[in-house]
Amino acid sequence: MANLDAGNGDWLRWSDDAPLTSETGDDRDRATLKVVNECSKPLHVQWVTAGGKLRNRRRVAPGKGRYAILDNSVKNEHTEGTLVGDAFVIYAGLDDTPPETLEALDTAEIVGFLACTGKDPARPRVVTVADAGFFSGLVGAKTLVASHTVGAAPTEEDTKPLHPYVYKRETACGIIIDVDDRCYERGERVRAFVADCEAAAKRLPKNAVAAIRDAGCRIVVHEETGKWTHMCYHPRQGQSWLRDQGFDENLAGCVQLYRLDDYAGDRGLWGQGGSIVHELSHAYHDCYLRDGHGNKFIGRRYDRAVHAERLYDAVRVKGPQSKPRDAAERRLLFLRQTACGCMGRVDGVARRHYAATNAAEFFAELSTAYLCRDDEDYNKWEPHNQRQLWQFDPETCKLLERVWDDGEALDDDCADEPPPPPPRSLCCRVLRWGAVPSVGAESARRLIV
Ligand SMILES: [Zn+2]
Repeated sequence: MANLDAGNGDWLRWSDDAPLTSETGDDRDRATLKVVNECSKPLHVQWVTAGGKLRNRRRVAPGKGRYAILDNSVKNEHTEGTLVGDAFVIYAGLDDTPPETLEALDTAEIVGFLACTGKDPARPRVVTVADAGFFSGLVGAKTLVASHTVGAAPTEEDTKPLHPYVYKRETACGIIIDVDDRCYERGERVRAFVADCEAAAKRLPKNAVAAIRDAGCRIVVHEETGKWTHMCYHPRQGQSWLRDQGFDENLAGCVQLYRLDDYAGDRGLWGQGGSIVHELSHAYHDCYLRDGHGNKFIGRRYDRAVHAERLYDAVRVKGPQSKPRDAAERRLLFLRQTACGCMGRVDGVARRHYAATNAAEFFAELSTAYLCRDDEDYNKWEPHNQRQLWQFDPETCKLLERVWDDGEALDDDCADEPPPPPPRSLCCRVLRWGAVPSVGAESARRLIV
């Protein structure tokens, strides 16, 4: 308990380094664990089974330092719906090799083991990990420290079912769109959305639209849903999360637009229907590819392109995310804009691509670019279209060609991916993408395009 705030021990079992393992039994209460990463390196949260195996690793991005992503595309926290008595370990290190046993944690920097206790299980346990600062220089001292608080229990308001929606049914290329009838008070937004869905569906190959439709994927549109904003795809296995949030669990496997005004407000950042292509790509990934979002071909390419080749550390993005956030960025942008012009268009600050978030977003983002076969700046993030993607990341393009155009489900008997290409030579183009190996992640992200 040395690293925890005094007085909260009853809410959480905690051990600095002696392993805790999970309890068993199906009749345990539900609990919520939230890990906030305020330190300067990535953390991992992993479930420790009753048998001492490590499963279900989750990465928690750092909240500061050179690896932090500050464009709001990645959260520095992870919330885990769990059961009282389930044990977890929080550690730094082993970024490329997820450990499967407690012994494999030997070379990791362990922050601690923890398990929620039975005390007031409805209140979320919040563990915040920070750099130890000055004291970390002492021999044997930990460089990461954890503190613990307990959040408020959900109120009746939080848990009661949301508005009993009444839907009107629309379709776009055979895909069902269920629209909350309140949206029709300003019906022009619905008509624009349905037209965008049609434009999006036309970007997809016909067999992909059929696969999405046959899997039962609908698009569900709401006027508002309380605290929820923007649009997402709910994975087919997501029923329990939906239930916990007060949503209909039949939304699993569907696209949900939480608030129509959000869509109307930022649809111009993509070509027509671009953000819907993104969500339909999630559906195709989940429903059609072998092992869904766990498909190893997509996962492997994501790891190489994002973590090994660092292709997506700093790219151009349309909209407010490209605006300079401080005086240093404003100065750098001004210098770039007045320089010789060899860097191409200079219209904002380069940011870490949303595709770098995880394998699912990688597939959805780059599919949105891939499925634009003309020269339009279609996706919000660069590469914006297929031609640019072929130039910038041909290996991913080849994989997407197999997925979308060859209609392969990427089964095990498909040919494996080729080895990664050799590093590219130094030139303006490479600099612009921040892909030079000697450039640190933070400085690469600050390059201006
Ligand atoms: Zn997404």
